[in-house]
Amino acid sequence: MMSLRLPSIDGLLRHPACVPLLERHGRESLLASLRWLLDELRPGVVNGQLSAIEISPEVLAGRVGERLAQHQRSHVRRVFNLTGTVLHTNLGRALLPDEAIDAVQMAARYPLNLEFDLASGKRGDRDDLIEGLIRELTGAEAVTVVNNNAAAVLLTLNSLGARKEGIISRGELIEIGGAFRIPDIMARAGVRLHEVGTTNRTHARDYEAAISPRSGLIMRVHASNYSIEGFTARVPTAELAELAHRHGLPLLEDLGSGSLLDLTRWGLPAEPTVRQALLDGADIVTFSGDKLLGGPQAGLIVGRKELIAKIKKNPLKRALRVDKLTLAALEAVLGLYRDPDRLAERLPSLRLLTRPQADIFAQALRLRPLMTELLGERWQVSAVEALGMIGSGSQPVARLPSAALCCRPQVSKRLRGRCLLNLEAALRGLRIPVLGRIDDDALWLDLRQLDDEPAWLAQLPLLQVDQ
Ligand SMILES: *Cc1c(COP(=O)(O)O)cnc(C)c1O
Repeated sequence: MMSLRLPSIDGLLRHPACVPLLERHGRESLLASLRWLLDELRPGVVNGQLSAIEISPEVLAGRVGERLAQHQRSHVRRVFNLTGTVLHTNLGRALLPDEAIDAVQMAARYPLNLEFDLASGKRGDRDDLIEGLIRELTGAEAVTVVNNNAAAVLLTLNSLGARKEGIISRGELIEIGGAFRIPDIMARAGVRLHEVGTTNRTHARDYEAAISPRSGLIMRVHASNYSIEGFTARVPTAELAELAHRHGLPLLEDLGSGSLLDLTRWGLPAEPTVRQALLDGADIVTFSGDKLLGGPQAGLIVGRKELIAKIKKNPLKRALRVDKLTLAALEAVLGLYRDPDRLAERLPSLRLLTRPQADIFAQALRLRPLMTELLGERWQVSAVEALGMIGSGSQPVARLPSAALCCRPQVSKRLRGRCLLNLEAALRGLRIPVLGRIDDDALWLDLRQLDDEPAWLAQLPLLQVDQ
């Protein structure tokens, strides 16, 4: 038997099949990939398991090219969110309006007055860039912005309640996704938890009995992703604020999603507004930038001037501050709220949340024939009414009337699960992965968020489902 030898690295680098790779990826990456491949093939060559073709420069260049292309592919990828949950935390929550995207581009490309007061020529404060707008939209005396609402809660608790007791109802000791638990955050903020009342019922007298010289603040948390129904009692914010102030304590309200406007004007379920919480007497209100607000990830802290000043002096503020891209996007999004009449056209999250069910259903009817044809006779595809969710802890029980393509495998019960998983994986494997949800022995593609129909249609013929 003739013994084979692997081509040399130098020879490969000069080979015409490798020249385009050298140009595209650079010498260093190509060299590393070639070394990796030759090391991998060496034992096979020694054992005589490989043919001359398998180690020809053309084949090796092909394999190295594939590997390099794979490495170069971005890990941050666009997807189609057809899950039915609009503000999906795992899929990036709110989508920014064009105004915000333009502002982010500007902030990314050029120097800007992030902490520079153009009027006086002196050093400025980044919060000043959006303070006026947030005060106008919420009625707050003062404002500061941090990286997300979890940071807002942590910073506020630490600034106002460290080494003191924080009084909170047992019904509000919640866990939000990603291990954000109110008792843990309190502990990390250095606030001693003083829980009062019961899971379903907490009264003013429960709070009152807990107040002592050790108390630092009273906290209220939006229940977000669960709901307490039935035999319940909760102290209204106005009453709780009055009680807190009578004892010289601040009332913090973590609204979670919060909203700047009353959503019922668009037929959506009511969410507490920031303005109302402040009017009711909450001293500090915290909420997210990328939930119902529809902006970038951020945590907004609004409320009484002297308390905000204290929060801004906390060294943690520096660790939790927002960056210039976020501020640019946030200002642009907040600017749209000045014209509520056109907000639902201009703010993508609100446009998607308010999309009429009839529209979505018509789209499902339109797309059904193509999907039926693609999936073949083992699938039944129907256009059906479906129920979606706002997501991100807004109105966990409320459902958004929507419509979906419902794909049901027409196979024996034994094979159904495998069939559904295959389809789910095939959709996920598309160039722009399509994410639906499996429920009730069917795969549901909720079309509320299928905005970019051309891109969806363009890639669908590439769908390969194992039959
Ligand atoms: C979502 C939420 C948070 C966390 O907000 P992020 O912006 O995700 O950090 C905190 N508190 C409540 C009540 C929430 O709903």
